[in-house]
Amino acid sequence: MSTWSARRARALALESESPHAAEILRCYADVLGVQERTAAQVPVREWLATVQSSDVGATALSLGRLPLGEVVPRFAGFLVAMEAIGTEVMRAEASRMAASGDAEQRLALEAALAVGSDDEVAPFHARAFIEAVATTLAGRVLPAVASEDPAATTCHVCGAPPLVATLRDASGALGAGGLVCSRCGTERRVRRLTCVFCGESDSTRLRIHSAESVPHVRIDECESCRRYIKTVDLRRRGDAVPIVEDLATPELDLWARDQGLSKGRANLFGM
Ligand SMILES: [Zn+2]
Ligand SMILES: [Zn+2]
Repeated sequence: MSTWSARRARALALESESPHAAEILRCYADVLGVQERTAAQVPVREWLATVQSSDVGATALSLGRLPLGEVVPRFAGFLVAMEAIGTEVMRAEASRMAASGDAEQRLALEAALAVGSDDEVAPFHARAFIEAVATTLAGRVLPAVASEDPAATTCHVCGAPPLVATLRDASGALGAGGLVCSRCGTERRVRRLTCVFCGESDSTRLRIHSAESVPHVRIDECESCRRYIKTVDLRRRGDAVPIVEDLATPELDLWARDQGLSKGRANLFGM
């Protein structure tokens, strides 16, 4: 199963389990369909030749080097497909952006490509499109090129910050911690017990909150920077797909926001 089909199947499965998130999940399943078609059309060999980096200390991909002259027309096609997807607001925005012309489309893509850019400045459609491209290219990077520094928290493949954390039993490491990239979806292993966003390592300042309703997803709060990330425990729920579990649990984000916490990185739907 492709990444996209796996996410789509999980979104549709969770739709009935999570009535409060059903609309987002149904919408997301449609977006995944368009992302999958976009991903299938990425000229992998040509674009990898441009963006793959072998420099020591650099991320495996330098997505800022994507040939925007070739990327923008594909983004325009993506926008046309998205005119039939999602809420009325999403459709209207897709139409508006599709009609806006090269210059605005290019700016939207540049915002989505800027490392660590705030979600507020990267428009939804640009982020969804770049996710499809980045995920496809990241899947073709040789493991040897993408070396992991266990102390780092940004993505070793594309440099973006993480969206969600994971716990799973890996070979030789029970309960190993991972971070899933918010742009290319690559999961990296990390040394845990530090805040992903500010590096706080005093365990008394790192707090865990869980809800009985979703025992496999918890909130990891840092009292120093007042940010949080969700952790998906794949030992409790082997069929979980971290990016989808994050979208399916907006009630945890609302709770965290009520506590005065902000999310380190918002998901595609801005939660
Ligand atoms: Zn990445
Ligand atoms: Zn922190």
